Amino acid sequence: MTDSRPLPTPTELSAPFWDGCRQGVLRVQQCRRCQALVFVPRPMCPTCQHTSLDWTDSGGKGSVYSFTVVHRPPRPAFAVPFVVAIIELDEGWYLLSNVIGCDPDAVHIGMTVEVAFTDMDETITLPLFRPV
Ligand SMILES: [Zn+2]
Repeated sequence: MTDSRPLPTPTELSAPFWDGCRQGVLRVQQCRRCQALVFVPRPMCPTCQHTSLDWTDSGGKGSVYSFTVVHRPPRPAFAVPFVVAIIELDEGWYLLSNVIGCDPDAVHIGMTVEVAFTDMDETITLPLFRPV
């Protein structure tokens, strides 16, 4: 999937996540005090409000928690149909992404998936997911 969709602009806060994707490593923040995994990137733990968060590596494996199949593109840049899914990573955190590499009608809740790093341009690599 290398369509011409609008791409994210990394910030100082999210850059470690995007740098990891470029390097083939899925990263998530972890609170130093309560150990909660935190995503999307933010300056404060939403569980205990501690402001010291580290980056830790995820195994990139998980399952489809919820999904929808998009048939009407939000912009012409998106090739339809495509699957938008909430992925539950094995470490217990969630990521909104796409499921690729299979018929959209084959996607189901609980489907086992793994990250598929997809280069979109010279700087952005998206963490999409494919069936295992
Ligand atoms: Zn915390």
